[in-house]
Amino acid sequence: LRLKNLEIQGFKSFPDKIVVTFGDGITAIVGPNGSGKSNIVDAIRWVMGEQSSKTLRGAKMEDVIFNGTSERKPTGYAEVTLVLDNSDGELQVEFAEVAITRRLYRSGESEYYINRSTVRLRDIHELLMNTGLGRDGYSVIGQGKISEILSQKSDERRQIFEEAAGISKYRYRKTESERKLANTEENLVRIRDILSELT
Ligand code: ATP
Repeated sequence: LRLKNLEIQGFKSFPDKIVVTFGDGITAIVGPNGSGKSNIVDAIRWVMGEQSSKTLRGAKMEDVIFNGTSERKPTGYAEVTLVLDNSDGELQVEFAEVAITRRLYRSGESEYYINRSTVRLRDIHELLMNTGLGRDGYSVIGQGKISEILSQKSDERRQIFEEAAGISKYRYRKTESERKLANTEENLVRIRDILSELT
């Protein structure tokens, strides 16, 4: 599984469409302070489903939309597409190339796509889970993150190992099943109440 390219439009400091291509080997992004290097990394986190505006260095999620300069009007939406080379089949889909897209409008409305078909955020999480990518994949290590990992509480550190070992997928499914079970129990209580009223 490899990153192929990243398309950014209307996201943070990039009003116009830019395409970053990741070749073989190491890709380095260089530029003066404040030129948008970290914004590119934020775009990668964001398209993979990041929900915390704080992690993306903003106060609210709409802060990722280009908010204009003295010469340019703000854009109406932000859009990022990450293209992954899946020729090794690591992602559980039959495509050799997978494009994940996220779009956010100023109204707060979000859209997610996998290969241009509308999907839910959950589908993106499930696609990336246990690949090492994704929201909790620790594939993007921000400034200061290493010292944060080293000084974390032991159960939080355990979560990192669980994600790396591929256990977190099952923990996630267990939580989902428990939630469904709890809903069903609640429905049963309600049905019993109705039944007792009827008899
Ligand atoms: P450094 O080397 O200092 O870490 P950097 O190259 O990583 O800098 P970034 O932090 O990626 O720079 O970019 C910061 C710039 O992005 C700031 O000039 C900021 O005004 C701009 N920016 C952030 N969000 C938006 C937005 N929504 N609209 C327009 N510009 C934005």
